This record gives sequence, structure tokens and C-alpha cells, in this order.
Amino acid sequence: MATISTTQIDPRVLSFLEKPRKMLINGKWVDAVSGKTFPTYDPSTGEVLAQVAEGDRADIDLAVKSARKAFDEGPWRKMTPSERGRLIWKLADLIEQHLEEFAFLESLDNGKPLTVARAADVPLAADLFRYMAGWATKIEGNTIPLSVPYTPGAKYLSYTLREPVGVVGQIIPWNFPLLMAAWKLGPALATGCTVVLKPAEQTPLSALRLGELIVEAGFPEGVVNIVPGYGETAGAALAAHADVDKIAFTGSTEVGRLIVHAAAGNLKRVSLELGGKSPNVIFKDADMDVAIPGAASGIFFNHGQCCCAGSRLYIEKEVFDKVVEGVAASAKKIRVGSGLDPKTQMGPLVSEEQLNRVCGYLESGFSQGAKAAAGGHKKGDKGYFVEPTVLVDTTEDMKVVQEEIFGPVVVAMPFSSADEIVPRANDNVYGLAAGIWTRDISKAHRMAESFQAGTVWINCYNIFDAALPFGGYKQSGWGREMGHEVLNNYTQTKAVCARI
Ligand code: NAP
Ligand code: MG
Repeated sequence: MATISTTQIDPRVLSFLEKPRKMLINGKWVDAVSGKTFPTYDPSTGEVLAQVAEGDRADIDLAVKSARKAFDEGPWRKMTPSERGRLIWKLADLIEQHLEEFAFLESLDNGKPLTVARAADVPLAADLFRYMAGWATKIEGNTIPLSVPYTPGAKYLSYTLREPVGVVGQIIPWNFPLLMAAWKLGPALATGCTVVLKPAEQTPLSALRLGELIVEAGFPEGVVNIVPGYGETAGAALAAHADVDKIAFTGSTEVGRLIVHAAAGNLKRVSLELGGKSPNVIFKDADMDVAIPGAASGIFFNHGQCCCAGSRLYIEKEVFDKVVEGVAASAKKIRVGSGLDPKTQMGPLVSEEQLNRVCGYLESGFSQGAKAAAGGHKKGDKGYFVEPTVLVDTTEDMKVVQEEIFGPVVVAMPFSSADEIVPRANDNVYGLAAGIWTRDISKAHRMAESFQAGTVWINCYNIFDAALPFGGYKQSGWGREMGHEVLNNYTQTKAVCARI
């Protein structure tokens, strides 16, 4: 049902878009119980890309039943860790073999440049699965010497087992659709959990294609179930489901709070990766040839639709004009257009709702006295494009400085000393990431310690690796994604104590 120009699109992608996409439950591709479908759009044109089965509570029930059966009775739990690891590794190989298809699906469904999806989203997803495949055989407990005072002379052998938490519900956003699916599925599978995944309504396609590869790789039925649908129906049903042992969520802080409430019914475990308003701090001693483009890509990468975007740019006052000029010049040079155009450096925002949200923030900034050193407006009449924007003359109390915009909008503000900047940088409800640009190594590491943020980048920004834990302080979330820390989200500890 693709209505987009078909000239340069991978033919496998076109045939994927032709048929309404079904959901994956118990290893089978099925329609929604209600028979309903919903459209997903190409944000560069606003046209419908494909129809997708619309899961709701009834489908979530079936998917949870299937995941429960796969966890309690299926072959999954009996597989050796090595067998699990090999399946995850095979999935990584399959993703790489289908890199082009995934890159097109991400670009079409999300709007991001094809070149970026090819270079970042898809390889990072494959890498994440490989990293997690290695962990499947390394999830170990401890032996613990005991000194029980009331059984003098007794000897015990005590050890811990790290066991999978069980059936996991995973709810993901639209900014990195495939990669967020990988971040969630990889550790759940490595630890032996079973999953019900709900992709974002705006970008369900790559997760559904991934589901086909999960079946092809040979994962037992029911281990991964994928139910596309809306957050208020499918997502809420998953978060509240009494037979789900854990919920992992990435998205807005507002919905994060709803997830916590919904999870309270059966006290399921919760991990959250939420919003951010990350400070990016440039000192006058920084290497400006690196810091200026770094600050620009820190905000404009993925159109600013990154939870860790460096959206509050603090610049030491002596170099304020120079840095603002440089970042504004970078913003003006960015080629904005359809993600499929190889020259495009920035595509459209993901949806009309996001466009309106970002434009609303711009209006609010201007009405409170902010000025644009670059951009400041919607771009064109078709699709959801917005100009890369640098705002100046902003003050800490403005909404554009305090709230997450989730678009290509940075606020630039001067500061006068390292002592002054730490409390300003930390003066926000979020604490996801922070950036520091300086040649002074001691200052950089002292600052890194002072920031209330889950990630601190020094003389770089937006560097992700499957081995590097990622997550938030304060209202940016609970728990960590990636690295070996994420395994804690998906395992629980059993203490075994034997008198010998
Ligand atoms: P969102 O509503 O938090 O969506 C994230 C996921 O949660 C989606 O799968 C969504 O389903 C689902 N969801 C929504 N309401 C739910 C509910 N009541 N119960 C369970 N699941 C629910 O985010 P958004 O509306 O797409 O974007 C709004 C803002 O969130 C952005 O502007 C940005 O500030 C922030 N955001 C942050 C991240 C991040 O990486 N931290 C990512 C995306 C957005 P639907 O697909 O139906 O919405
Ligand atoms: Mg879409």
C-alpha cells in the first residue's frame, strides 16, 4: 500500500509494505482479535506507508499467555546458555544480511536519513545482539561463606543463582525503532526471559521485520511476541497485566509515571529510560574545531529526537559569540529533506504531533524573549520538517530551557566559571547525560563527577556502545540499558543455603 515514490526503494521493502502487517504471537503472524488495523506514515510526505494490525488488550492477553507458556513449559528454559547465545548471534548475522532493508524501513517510517540508519541504527542493533549473545554464557552467581552465630560448628555451602525474571513486557519509542527493540530484546533473551514487545505506533515496521528474522533464526515459538498498537490500549494493558513479571519502558517521563502506577497491581519490576534536557558545557580552553561541530551534532543528530540530546548548551562567556556563530553556521548548512535523498543530513520530525510540539516550544521561547541565531521555524508545506534552531537570549526559567523539546532546538547560554556552571547544569528534573569540552583533563574529570547524569561525555557526544551502560539519574529513569548492568534488570537472585 505504499504511495511513495518507488524509484529507489529496495524492492524487498516495497513488497514488505504492500500487505497489511500482522502481529507475532506464539510464533505465528496473526491479525488483531478486533480485526482492526492502523496506518503508519511516511513523515516526509504525511502519506500512508502501510497498514498494521492494531493490537489491544485482547491481543496483549494472547501474547502474554504465549510468553508465559514459552517461559514455563517451552524448550527455551531447557536450552543451554550456549544455545541461547548462538540464536542471538544468528539474529545479529541476519540483521546484517538485511541491513539495506532495515535502513529503508527506518528511513521511511521514522524519517531519519537512510545514510544514518545504514551507518548507525542497524549496525548498532546487530552489535548489541552480538554483545548480549556473549553474556548468555556468563550470567553467574557467587559462593558465599557463612558465619551463622546460632549454629556453632555447622558448615554450609551457600551460593546464589541468577535466574530470569520471567515474562517481560517491553514498550519502546519511535526515535530509534530498531535499536530500541535491540536494546530491550538483547538482554531479555540473553538472560532467558520471554517477551511481549510493543513498538511505537509511529514506527512499528522495523520491529515487525525483526520479528520475521527472529522466527527465521529459530527462536522457539512464544519467546518473542510483537504486538503493535497504541500506548493507551495495548501499552497500558501490557503495563498493567497481572501475568507480566517485569516491564521495561523507554519514552516520556509522563508515560513513565503511568507505567509505574500500572505496574503497582502485581508489583512487577520496572525499568525506565525517560526524557532528558542534557547540559553540554564548552569551556574557553576547548579545541573549538572539535567542540563547535560536536555541540552541533550533540543536538542535531537524529533531528534532536534523542533522549540524551545536548539541548542546553552552556558556553564560557569569553567564547560565547564564537561558539554560537559556529553552531548557528552548522545549523544553517544542514541539508534538510527526505531521508531517502542521499544528500539529506536531517529528515522530517517523526509526526505532525511532534512538529506541532516543537513549533509550540519555539513560539513559547520567542514570546518569552528568546531570539533565533539560526532557524526558528517550520520548513516547507509538506511533511513534518523544522529548521535546525539555535536560541539565544534565553533564561533559566523559560520553558525552552527547562523542558525537553525533543526536536532540533538548542538553547545557548553563557557562563563565567566552572563553579558557577555545575549547579546551573544540575538545575533540572532530568539527569540523563552531560557533555564537557575542555583541554584541561583534571577539570574534565572533576566536572564529570559533579554532574547528576547517567552518562558524561568528555570532548565527544552521543557515543554509544553495547558495553557502555546507559540510563538516567533523577527523573530520567530507573536502571541501566546495555553493558553488563542491564542484566540486573532481567534477572533475580536466588540464595541457596545447604548444610553440609
Ligand atoms: P510516549 O507516549 O512516552 O511513547 C513511548 C511508548 O509508550 C510508545 O510505545 C507509546 O505508545 C507508549 N505509551 C503511550 N502511552 C502509554 C500508556 N498509557 N501506557 C503504556 N504505554 C504507553 O512518547 P511520545 O508520545 O511518542 O513522545 C512524547 C515525548 O516523549 C517526546 O516529545 C519526548 O519528549 C519523549 N520521548 C522520549 C524518548 C526517549 O528516548 N526517552 C523517546 C520518545 C519520546 P504509542 O506508540 O501509541 O504512543
Ligand atoms: Mg511512520
